[in-house]
Amino acid sequence: MTEQGCLFCRIANKEIPAKVVFEDSRIIAFEDVNPQAPVHILLIPKKHIEKISDLTKDNADMVGHLVLAANKIAAEQGIRDAGYRLTINCNKDAGQAVFHLHMHLMGGRKFAWPPG
Ligand code: AMP
Ligand code: ZN
Repeated sequence: MTEQGCLFCRIANKEIPAKVVFEDSRIIAFEDVNPQAPVHILLIPKKHIEKISDLTKDNADMVGHLVLAANKIAAEQGIRDAGYRLTINCNKDAGQAVFHLHMHLMGGRKFAWPPG
């Protein structure tokens, strides 16, 4: 389902170009346009889900699907053994800027914990 005017729906529909690194029937992964690490990839469901707090029992398996794809991409990008961070920002206080569910895959450098 496409949400009118949603940036990531438009990327999923190939209406806006992106550097796609992985795609299957349910999800698509592409490079973040403003990378915060040497590897910074966004993984999104093709179907519009606004945010992680909107997940229900019917679509919760999407998260596992995103994580398995992120693990595969991390291996392909050569960061599996060094480590990487998977982040889902939910709503304003977490800094969610694009309201189409997405998981950040970041690696290639060290990250502080706890995050700021
Ligand atoms: P968040 O703050 O979790 O909502 O993250 C949104 C991310 O989307 C940011 O890291 C942006 O750099 C990224 N972003 C915004 N527009 C695009 C785009 N057209 N292509 C790729 N990444 C984008
Ligand atoms: Zn969308």
